[in-house]
Amino acid sequence: MARRLAQLEGLSVAVLESVGPKRAEKLEQVGVATVLDLLTYYPRRYLDRTGEKSIRDLKPGDEALILAHIKRVDAKRTRNNKSMVEVAVFDGSAYLTVTFFNQPWRAKQLVPGTEIALFGKLEIFRGSRRMTSPVVDLIGNRTGRIIALYPQSEKVGLTTWEVSDWMAEALRRAGDLVDPLPFGWRDELDLVSRTWAMANIHAPETMGAAQAARKRLAFDELLRLQVVLVLRKHAVERDSVGIRHEVGGALVDRFIASLPFPLTGAQQRANYEIALDLARAIPMHRLLQGDVGAGKTLVAVTAMLHAVEGGYQGALMAPTEVLAEQHYFGIRELVAGASLQVDDPAVLGGTRPVRVALLTSRTTAAERRELHAALRTGAVDLLIGTHALIAEAVTFHRLGVVVIDEQHRFGVEQRAALREKAGDHDPDVLVMTATPIPRTAAMTVYGDLDSTILDELPPGRTQIVTVWARSEMELAAAWEQVRAEVAAARQVYVVCPLVEGSDKIMARSATETFEELSGGELHGLRLGLLHGQMPSAEKEVVMTRFRGGLVDVLVATTVIEVGVDVPNATVMVILDADRFGIAQLHQLRGRVGRGTHASTCFLLSDAKTPDGEARLAALVRTTDGFELAEVDLELRGEGTILGTRQKGKTDLKLASLRRDKGLVVEARRVAMAIVAADPTLDAHADLKEEIALFVDPEESEFLFKS
Ligand code: ADP
Ligand code: MG
Repeated sequence: MARRLAQLEGLSVAVLESVGPKRAEKLEQVGVATVLDLLTYYPRRYLDRTGEKSIRDLKPGDEALILAHIKRVDAKRTRNNKSMVEVAVFDGSAYLTVTFFNQPWRAKQLVPGTEIALFGKLEIFRGSRRMTSPVVDLIGNRTGRIIALYPQSEKVGLTTWEVSDWMAEALRRAGDLVDPLPFGWRDELDLVSRTWAMANIHAPETMGAAQAARKRLAFDELLRLQVVLVLRKHAVERDSVGIRHEVGGALVDRFIASLPFPLTGAQQRANYEIALDLARAIPMHRLLQGDVGAGKTLVAVTAMLHAVEGGYQGALMAPTEVLAEQHYFGIRELVAGASLQVDDPAVLGGTRPVRVALLTSRTTAAERRELHAALRTGAVDLLIGTHALIAEAVTFHRLGVVVIDEQHRFGVEQRAALREKAGDHDPDVLVMTATPIPRTAAMTVYGDLDSTILDELPPGRTQIVTVWARSEMELAAAWEQVRAEVAAARQVYVVCPLVEGSDKIMARSATETFEELSGGELHGLRLGLLHGQMPSAEKEVVMTRFRGGLVDVLVATTVIEVGVDVPNATVMVILDADRFGIAQLHQLRGRVGRGTHASTCFLLSDAKTPDGEARLAALVRTTDGFELAEVDLELRGEGTILGTRQKGKTDLKLASLRRDKGLVVEARRVAMAIVAADPTLDAHADLKEEIALFVDPEESEFLFKS
């Protein structure tokens, strides 16, 4: 009978004859405890003897994998007393000297007479061929055209040939594996069988076989992940009692009519999709993505007003206090023109304005008491606050729509907390991301949400020219332009360098920058300072003065990243720009180019790291947030993206959101089809069992509860 993964997970590696208890202990240290762990301890690379390079053919700068015999090993000390191990190797074509610094153990590890694989860059030093600190694989005397190289750990003394032997035994004894993917899908997606894949990822005959194996196993990982996400969405819908909002009312129409501009096509589409969600009894759980300045706030407010129209309340949660405050002022202004029809005969004219309140940690105890009461009775329509809102003992009269600003974990627990606040029903939830993320990443990170994309900027935005200033001359030119713009009655943001440490340290550094500029490059201009440590009132004064044109140059920390909107500001100067991430630079830059005048963003940096250069170059090249998101994913990898929302044991050992975009899309399609046809997965028992292996028991119970 074919074996299930759960059976392999239930067997300790110690059951393998070639492993035994002693080596099992070693394996445990690299996270391999069960036979399943061992089988999914995948090779990190293959040595393809058919395409092997010889040392003599390598040119300086070539990066290559070579196979050679160790001839001599010398442990030495450098002049400044660092350890250095020099190894002479020979591959039949030429000698090569390999040097390792600060790795004294190499002297023991590398034994003359044995064969090793080296992956590194060839250099010529004093006329001889060298490699410095290449990746080393001890391969013993293994034969075969293709050799799997495993991640090895010198610490625990694991060698790639040992792993390979154990793997062979594990594969032999495991025999046939259950294949949880129905044959029809395998055929359609051109995927090999699980058993074949497992055998060929570890011991392929050709590189093509290794690739086909990898594709299948990576697909399995992505499928499990997608099925979990799709099930999560189903489970939330299954367990929830939503509100059927009345979406045809006059309040929203009046609100839209009161705006000084028409909605963009994308905003109209988003509003429409959201209204459909709101009108259904199933609670909305939707992601709203859009580039900086695409007008997400407006869409969010429209959603909340639908709730208000029907006698419900809306809440918007921002990730920081500053943002909550900015949203509060912005939204109060936005809804100023919208009034609500009321039946109360005591109300003059039969209408009243929409009531907006702010709740942050700065709200005083007395204000807070009053606010809590107003929320309970329904005297407040829209509450703006930080995410702490969920935790705080706030009870709403009738909470109808919740908007969550920014990529924050909003999982099942948060949803449960919200339901408690809202009473016996689940409010509709809209999650907004401040910066776009690539489509395949969104499918993975936000795969349990429906998605709306605002892919259109309001008209009349001016193109922002981005200049990366690195030489003294370019810096001088940047400050020159700042002065020229101020002379032309425009305004400027200067963003302070990002410094490590607390908000306090950041504030101190901002103050220093402010003083330096006042006495230096920007002497004589009217400067303002804004950072997160200033009291709210003081910040408001500075912002009001800047908005009113009484301040020429606002020297600020990243508090201005989101929400600040001053159309007359046409220049942004970002100091030490290479310290910021792509998304952050893009957000910051979005503060200019909001009016009718041409705008410029100066990135000051003498960045020398390849990553820093790549980031700044991308910013110079494009203003498209989705494109930048792709670059960001390329540079940073998916760990950072996944890390924000996935918890527990992630199962992505082979699959990469970067490299396997097509597979992500396919896995999602298959997952949706499977779950739609079989929401409890009872007809897909093998798949169900595997998924349960990779999610924690609590979640599994929630997902499969019927
Ligand atoms: P986002 O949050 O998507 O970055 P905002 O919601 O803050 O963008 O909107 C950016 C600016 O664009 C705001 O000043 C807003 O008033 C304005 N805006 C929004 N929608 C439109 C529109 N349809 N036409 C013109 N301006 C708009
Ligand atoms: Mg916004």
